[in-house]
Amino acid sequence: MKKDSLWLGYRDEDKQELERVCGLYKKCLDEGKTERECASLVVKMAEEKGYRELYSALKQGERLKAGDKLYVVQMNKSVALFQLGKKPISEGMNILGAHIDSPRIDVKQNPLYEKDGFAYFDTHYYGGIKKYQWTAIPLALHGVVAKKDGTTVNVCIGEKDDDPVFVITDLLVHLAGEQMTKKATEVVTGENLDLLIGNCPLSDETEEGEENKDKEKDALKANVLKLLKDSYDIEEEDLLSAELEIVPAGKAKDLGFDRSMILAYGQDDRICAFTSLFAMLDMASDITENTLCCLLVDKEEIGSVGATGMQSRFFENAVAELVAATEEDSQRLVRRALANSRMLSSDVSAGYDPLYANAFEKNNAAFLAHGLTFNKYTGSRGKSGSNDANAEYIAQLRKVMDEADVKYQFAELGKVDVGGGGTIAYIMAKYGMNVIDSGVAVMNMHAPYEASSKADVYEAVRGYSAFLRS
Ligand code: MN
Ligand code: MN
Repeated sequence: MKKDSLWLGYRDEDKQELERVCGLYKKCLDEGKTERECASLVVKMAEEKGYRELYSALKQGERLKAGDKLYVVQMNKSVALFQLGKKPISEGMNILGAHIDSPRIDVKQNPLYEKDGFAYFDTHYYGGIKKYQWTAIPLALHGVVAKKDGTTVNVCIGEKDDDPVFVITDLLVHLAGEQMTKKATEVVTGENLDLLIGNCPLSDETEEGEENKDKEKDALKANVLKLLKDSYDIEEEDLLSAELEIVPAGKAKDLGFDRSMILAYGQDDRICAFTSLFAMLDMASDITENTLCCLLVDKEEIGSVGATGMQSRFFENAVAELVAATEEDSQRLVRRALANSRMLSSDVSAGYDPLYANAFEKNNAAFLAHGLTFNKYTGSRGKSGSNDANAEYIAQLRKVMDEADVKYQFAELGKVDVGGGGTIAYIMAKYGMNVIDSGVAVMNMHAPYEASSKADVYEAVRGYSAFLRS
């Protein structure tokens, strides 16, 4: 089953289209560095293609018909897009799914402290990270601060050319003799993963002299709070109801002399989310047989939990509304709609890395520039926790992909018993639908910067389009 690099087979017009798609993909990565930013970007792009918010459309009492395009947003962090087909929804949908949360470092609820002349935000990391990778690189702060008056302040610092950035410091190598003997899991502890945010105390002139003497030891904190107050009208207590995420600063870049790859933060799993979205929005002017759905969800990296994770019922609720509006208000028909659906549950695959060849079994590894990856199963230690896709369904997908001349590969996540991972596939499989794990291979998954192949981005969009049309 050995295949050649896709680059050898592309004509000039393929490469042009590939660069167009990847340019758009990189822009989306830059605009969507948190699940909230991704969700609002998805809504903006969907509205440009004629999508309307489902619940407000229903309120207006209009009759929904084939070709109608509707979206649902769950708490600003997850989005489901639907494009109604000619057939009843209860006959099943073609669903593309992916997640829009990525590993990162979150700011704690009581974050602000100062120590020995520096001001810090205390943090708690989100998702599986190698903690040492997140030190000594420029970091940006993205998120929201929700205030008691009901307003929400958006924060994004570290992305514009003249913005400041932040850093998590590491011990200089000269003094790191002891640190360097530690295991990688202990080199940097979670509690030490704090963000350096200031070094300049509030000056005497800005406060009455006497009072400031007492406060001297908190002058660094006071200065940060003053800046937050001035720029965002935020008090320290407002940080209690904030969601501030620390992510690598800067834009997605081409990788390599040949510019064949992309290096960027958050490609797990936005590489699958945005390619699924592009394929979905490309269908906007078609009238299809089946209802199409693109489901982009939060919280996968911490187990798909919470009201915005895949285990939440928000998606099922939206389907129930659609079935009620287009067929009848019947739980049985909702169940049929879900059970009769077919899904590509897309998440990144572990791209084969020659420098760490030992972790992979080459015949069943995903290679960059070898196309859309299908994983029959994921999980770990004997497929535990995986959705093991049905052979019959896989055969159907092979036919769909081959007929559309989409390049694809089958792989699993590393050597048996070396590790493993999960996705949202098993959750959707609970409805009894056909689901398979698919997606794009990336290298250094969960590192601050992940590497992918432009060819795979291109094939992913082509593959998802073929699936939606099937
Ligand atoms: Mn993922
Ligand atoms: Mn992940």
